[in-house]
Amino acid sequence: MAPALWASSVWESDGFDDAHRRATALRADEFYGRYSNPTVRSFEEAIADLEGAEDAMAFASGMGAIASTVLALCSSGDHIVATRQLYAGTLAFLQGPCQRFGIDVTIVDGTEPGAVGAAVEPGRTTMVLIETPSNPRLELCDLDEIGSIMSPFTVVDSTFATPVGQQPLAHGVDLVVHSATKGIAGHNDATIGVVAGERELVDAIWGYGVLHGAMASPFDALNALRGVRTLAVRTAHQAATAQHLAEWLTEHPAIAAVHYPGLSSHPQHDLAKRQMRQFGTVLAFDLVEGHEGVRRLIDRIELARPATSLGGPETLLCHPQTTTHASLTPDEQVACGVTDGLVRMTIGLEDAGDLVADLTRALG
Ligand SMILES: *Cc1c(COP(=O)(O)O)cnc(C)c1O
Repeated sequence: MAPALWASSVWESDGFDDAHRRATALRADEFYGRYSNPTVRSFEEAIADLEGAEDAMAFASGMGAIASTVLALCSSGDHIVATRQLYAGTLAFLQGPCQRFGIDVTIVDGTEPGAVGAAVEPGRTTMVLIETPSNPRLELCDLDEIGSIMSPFTVVDSTFATPVGQQPLAHGVDLVVHSATKGIAGHNDATIGVVAGERELVDAIWGYGVLHGAMASPFDALNALRGVRTLAVRTAHQAATAQHLAEWLTEHPAIAAVHYPGLSSHPQHDLAKRQMRQFGTVLAFDLVEGHEGVRRLIDRIELARPATSLGGPETLLCHPQTTTHASLTPDEQVACGVTDGLVRMTIGLEDAGDLVADLTRALG
């Protein structure tokens, strides 16, 4: 019943002609580990299935998937339109290596209706890259709007939603990427990324990816497949707890604001209801007492742990300003909505009442 682990990196061929066939086939399987691996392939097929995609390709991390997708499809002289609501690593990749390779990047506010489409320059823009919901403030970008942009490749980082929460391809988007390190693998024991979409595009990414070499490990693919089997139940529990905590935190006197797409106070709650089946497992909140309040909270919290990931069994708290976004300049932090009192809370599988008790004590 459980998928098999193929640790093999080399396959024997059945003679001369078969050796040629294996070496030259598109996405050659049972040839050499960098080209394909049966355990990784099972994971790719599972993700393609979940996203309603023709095919998928896994990488050694979410950044491996994002960087390989960009470098496979964009060349020097090309132009990318991206939203400022991006994972800090993605933003650093676009603003560092991409610029160095002569790929021009325009950053816009993804929450502003029409802003992404307006920044597309016909004939020059090759890619639109967005993330929704975004890290760390849970801002959304309208998937119908991105899907309706015609000529550039449209790519959506859907990590925070997981394939259970939303399906970008159904909105007309070309490619969906995930850091499967997070909710998909779901147990904090695999580092793996994936991109899914039309077969022709995924094949093109594979053609580049084989040379780039950031392939997924079969061991991580096995753990990620284990995660896929329980994804729906885990995310349902985590999203219900996130909703409960978001509502509870809204009433707490130490909290200035709560950011969660499932709250009716979220400025894009209507959009969330239109494009998400589940509002996700991450919330953020601002502490009235700012930086010092966050220090006391994180030092006193016991059940939730201070760490910077999401989608695993444990509830984690982080202070984006001094961790995930520490490498950004103060201006860039403000642009990303990272303030000194902002806390990101990523919900695990604990009992919601236990988490409320932990927060009650630590905030008190
Ligand atoms: C973590 C994350 C990434 C990067 O994924 P890695 O697996 O850490 O390389 C990209 N996008 C989002 C939204 C993430 O949360």
